[in-house]
Amino acid sequence: MSTQTANAPAHESMFEAVLARLDVAAKLMNMSEDVATILRSPIKQVKVALPVMMDNGKIEVFEGYRIVHSTVLGPSKGGIRYAMDVNQDEVMALAAWMSFKCAVANLPYGGAKGGIKCDPRTMSVGELERLTRAYATAMKDVFGVNRDIPAPDMGTSGREMAWILDEFNKVTGEDSPGVITGKPIVVGGSLGRDAATGRGVMVNTLAALKKMGLNPKEVTAAVQGFGNVGSHAARLLSEQGIKIVAIGDHTATFYNENGIDINAALEFAAKNNRVLKGFNGGTLINANDILTCNCDVLVPAALQNVITDEIAQNIQAKLIVEGANGPTMPEADPILNEKNIVVVPDILANAGGVTVSYFEWVQNKAGYYWSENEVNTKHDEKMEIAFAHVWDNASIFKTSMRIAAYITALQKIEQGVKLKGNY
Ligand code: GLU
Repeated sequence: MSTQTANAPAHESMFEAVLARLDVAAKLMNMSEDVATILRSPIKQVKVALPVMMDNGKIEVFEGYRIVHSTVLGPSKGGIRYAMDVNQDEVMALAAWMSFKCAVANLPYGGAKGGIKCDPRTMSVGELERLTRAYATAMKDVFGVNRDIPAPDMGTSGREMAWILDEFNKVTGEDSPGVITGKPIVVGGSLGRDAATGRGVMVNTLAALKKMGLNPKEVTAAVQGFGNVGSHAARLLSEQGIKIVAIGDHTATFYNENGIDINAALEFAAKNNRVLKGFNGGTLINANDILTCNCDVLVPAALQNVITDEIAQNIQAKLIVEGANGPTMPEADPILNEKNIVVVPDILANAGGVTVSYFEWVQNKAGYYWSENEVNTKHDEKMEIAFAHVWDNASIFKTSMRIAAYITALQKIEQGVKLKGNY
């Protein structure tokens, strides 16, 4: 693989960092400047104040966002994040990534993202339910089954999706399960959705290893994050014979050169508040050391901006598969490229989640539900096609997989803009 890339400057703003990569891709593929101009501005930005009665009897006001980046290829799609660092700039970046991710995966969607600035770990279930319902009501004119379709992201899960569905249905007077995805199965969720992002990471890892001439049964992997993405990714990778030598979450990180028993880790986390602290299947290491540990495949599946230029210098893996959104800072890209590390970028590597969200939406519209096997087969096929497309573009345009993924997305969005015409 070629190592050509632009040396993007460091960026304070996440959205600026997205635009810098977009500019590199746009230049390489010779994209129309008009299309780039359109994509530089999200089409809708909604910020709300959400007063919530806390358990102590006091009102607290939370900041909520929903930002629609693009609807060129269809209704906007993207998750809702609950975290303390949620802010307008971050949600803009995440929304743009959703536009590109959906285009790379060939889904008939544009991109959006939502978020609430809060710390869900310190809130009671009742507080979270009241906050979530307030958010759903505030966004009733933004969401819609053919308009904007939210889903889970960091800090949210099927539980919040069910509350949003219920609130949306009450407010609109309709029963519209397809207005949100990532729902629990009994209220219209899809089999396979829970594991889908991790499954996409696995399919992309296998596809990349094959291109690199590496046998999965002879490689080791480190997986950062043990939430919805990391835990399923670790399990599915180990089921493929890949030896998982390191796992970690926000509470503890472990290394074991003989391989970590992922089923034991899953069982441990299930009984321990879904965290790894106290697990004894490996040696405790520093949280950041998982990124630079001795392994062939690195899966950052936790937070954004963890691979800095300094960390990039010390990474030993040959392959990075980005389970999280934005784990690599733009200034680390050229270093990874120089080191000939293959990076399967977030907008391809973690597209499994939104792909099965799309299947959930299709099933909701049809009112007919598929078997898990059918979901997984269709998912794997879509991911393999997306991977092949990006891989081919990397060699056609002599660039990294990251820029090739942007090119793959932009080719489709540019066509969409041109076909729909100007106004
Ligand atoms: N939040 C996930 C993502 O970043 C899933 C989005 C969706 O299913 O709409 O891709």
